[in-house]
Amino acid sequence: MPSPLAHIAAGYAVYQIYNLTYRPTPKTSETANATVPVTLCIGASLLPDVDAALGLLLGDFGRLHNQGTHSLFVGLAVALAVAGIMQVARRQNAMHWAALTFICYALHLFMDSLTTGRGVMLLWPFSTERFLSPVSLFQGVHWSRGWANAITVGTVMSELPVVLLAIGLMVIRQRLYRIPEAEGTPCA
Ligand SMILES: [Zn+2]
Repeated sequence: MPSPLAHIAAGYAVYQIYNLTYRPTPKTSETANATVPVTLCIGASLLPDVDAALGLLLGDFGRLHNQGTHSLFVGLAVALAVAGIMQVARRQNAMHWAALTFICYALHLFMDSLTTGRGVMLLWPFSTERFLSPVSLFQGVHWSRGWANAITVGTVMSELPVVLLAIGLMVIRQRLYRIPEAEGTPCA
C-alpha cells in the first residue's frame, strides 16, 4: 500500500477539486465551510487502512491488513452512513456528502491496486478475488523493513506526484478565488 502521506495528499486533492465549486465571500467563513469536506475527504482516504491499525494492535499486521475494508461495497456502506449522519445532524444534501466520501474511499482502493503487492479485494464480501494493476505506479511501504532503507526512497519518489498534485490544486484554487476586499473598507 502507498504510505498514509500519499492517501492524505490524494484526499486533499479531491477536496481542492470539490473546493473549486465554492467561492468564498467576505461574509462567509472559509475555515468553517472547509472543516466538514476536508475532514471527510482525508478521513475517507485513510479509512480503508483502519485494518492496519487493528493489525498492529493485535500483533498480526500481515493477516489483518488489506482485507475486507478494501472493498467498494464497504466504501458504499460508509458513504451511505455518512449521508445518513449529515442528513440527520445538519439537514444537508445527503447524496452530495455520500458522493464525496465514496470518491475518496474508492480512490484509496484504486491507489492500492496500482501498488506493488497482492492487490485488493474490491468485491468483498461477494468475492475474495484480488485486483492488481499490471502497471505499478507506487512501490508501497514495507513496514517490516523499517524506514531507513533504499525502498523508502523509492516509495517517497513514487508518491511525490500525488503530493505535488495536491499542492498544485491548492495554489490554483487560491489564485482563482482570492477573497475580495470587504465593501466599505477604507482606502489607505
Ligand atoms: Zn490500503
